[in-house]
Amino acid sequence: MVIVARYNIILNEIRKFLIESKETHNCPVCDEPLSGYDTRQRHGKESDGSKKIYLIRRLRCSGCNRIHTELPDFLVPRKHYVAEVIESQLDGASDDCPADNSTIQRWLNRFKVIAIQIEGMLRQLWMVEHKMLYPLSSSNSLLESIRRNGANWLTTVAQMIVNTGLWQPTQFACSP
Ligand SMILES: [Zn+2]
Repeated sequence: MVIVARYNIILNEIRKFLIESKETHNCPVCDEPLSGYDTRQRHGKESDGSKKIYLIRRLRCSGCNRIHTELPDFLVPRKHYVAEVIESQLDGASDDCPADNSTIQRWLNRFKVIAIQIEGMLRQLWMVEHKMLYPLSSSNSLLESIRRNGANWLTTVAQMIVNTGLWQPTQFACSP
């Protein structure tokens, strides 16, 4: 599974960016503490088309022994482009994107399909936090209200869903 974290980036001598988070995490499955296991490489394509290589941490759960990947919050699980690039296309905010048109179209189509799933997960989190059922009469979309709050909404949503264990890699929940 994946954990999303705030990060520091350190450019090391082999021109790879080591992602170092000061945060501690608990397992999204069993809530036991996670500790460092190893690192692996992950590419991130930037808005200018350049590609950076990041070394990101994998963490092992002391309870269930599962391995979780600690993803910095500018990357989206299973996507090569950084979150900022994808978000600006979903918002129609930029005509200048390094991704080809078919990739952009795939993001837009996928997001249309999974927006309903995401809304369901956000309502689930809302109910846990408020200890009550989400009002059936409410036509407010939690996803849309997070989007209206401005930049980095994709990161915010991914972090909420991923770190609470609702993101199942098989359903490819939030990643357009
Ligand atoms: Zn665990």
